[in-house]
Amino acid sequence: MAILVCEARVRTGLPSHAIATLCERFARDDAQATWSERSGRADFSFGSGILEATEDSIMLRAEAADEASLARVKFLLAWRFEELAKAEKPDIIWTGDGCDRTELLNFREMRVSRIADITPHLRRITLAGQDLARFDSRNFHVKLLIPPVGVEPAWPVMGRNGMPIWPEGERRPTVRTYTVRRVDALAGELDIDFVMHEDAGPGSAFALRAETGDVVGIMGPGGRGLADADWYCFVGDETAFPAIARMLESMPATAKGVALVEVSDASEEQTVQHPPGISLRFLHRNGAEPGSTTLLQDAVRVVEWPSDGSVFAWAGVEFEAFRAIRSYWRKEMNLDRSSHLAVAYWRRGFSEGDFKKAPAED
Ligand SMILES: Cc1cc2nc3c(=O)[nH]c(=O)nc-3n(C[C@H](O)[C@H](O)[C@H](O)COP(=O)(O)OP(=O)(O)OC[C@H]3O[C@@H](n4cnc5c(N)ncnc54)[C@H](O)[C@@H]3O)c2cc1C
Repeated sequence: MAILVCEARVRTGLPSHAIATLCERFARDDAQATWSERSGRADFSFGSGILEATEDSIMLRAEAADEASLARVKFLLAWRFEELAKAEKPDIIWTGDGCDRTELLNFREMRVSRIADITPHLRRITLAGQDLARFDSRNFHVKLLIPPVGVEPAWPVMGRNGMPIWPEGERRPTVRTYTVRRVDALAGELDIDFVMHEDAGPGSAFALRAETGDVVGIMGPGGRGLADADWYCFVGDETAFPAIARMLESMPATAKGVALVEVSDASEEQTVQHPPGISLRFLHRNGAEPGSTTLLQDAVRVVEWPSDGSVFAWAGVEFEAFRAIRSYWRKEMNLDRSSHLAVAYWRRGFSEGDFKKAPAED
């Protein structure tokens, strides 16, 4: 199979051990990474990144079998490099296969095609669009690009550095993170379940006022897939239920474990197909505000873990619960990084844009 290749020679004053730092970060992006003093390599499931240090520059090389995968490798190399060399404002310019294209291969313009209220506070919006096969993936988070009300949106395009260039001004869309609950690439549609919360920001306001034909953009998919294990612990509130439901539905019938889901009350419970060996428990806030209780972190502490075999623990919760649960899993249960993933899905009193400035996932 022909391999597509792009390269960028980036002048930099970074020390040569920067290659090791970059490769460690790629390992956290799920790559198999190896490095020596002046070179490194990161093999992702979708392509490879190669780094070579010379006197005054680092050569980045991206390789993949198709253009969309090549774009993902280029993005990760450029993003991690810019993150490390922020103060230098590095000038990354890719040359090679597909580098003259300006459209973002992970972007789709979608239209609202159906709206259904699943529970009193959960609205399912079906979006129709073209070429959705890439969203039928074990990584199922997307960035929703919400147009400003009453203004035709301008969408981001691909920059020469392999990263999106966002439009400025009133046509710029607002970005929020959601989970693809269902994809039917043949029918050209996917579902997103929106929690309709108080103090609605752009995400839940979009769902509240949505009408068929409304336009929205999606970019992705992203996130980490579920690791294989003998026993699982899932923890989440209503915002993470779409992700938990997709994981439960995709698991073999023999899977074992527990799923703890916080909802406001019985009217917000949903049924989902799940392996009989995974017990699904709903915890009710009973009138307390979302994000104001310790229901999930308390429940996590009394989970009975198996005495042998491998485990995987997953949490998608409000920021304070995220901190408590991750700390418990890491510091008290000594779960290593490959055995757990805890993510802050939202933060009480902060919009997504504001709370993402604080570290939420690692
Ligand atoms: C990987 C990932 C996947 C996600 N998937 C989904 C999904 O499928 N469905 C979904 O509904 N959400 C999902 N979320 C959570 C969603 O991104 C946040 O709730 C986001 O803040 C909603 O944006 P907004 O514009 O409605 O509110 P923002 O503008 O971000 O916030 C406005 C106000 O609303 C509050 N707020 C935000 N979310 C909630 C909430 N759930 N309950 C009460 N108050 C809230 C904030 O604290 C803030 O005060 C996901 C988050 C992540 C990181």
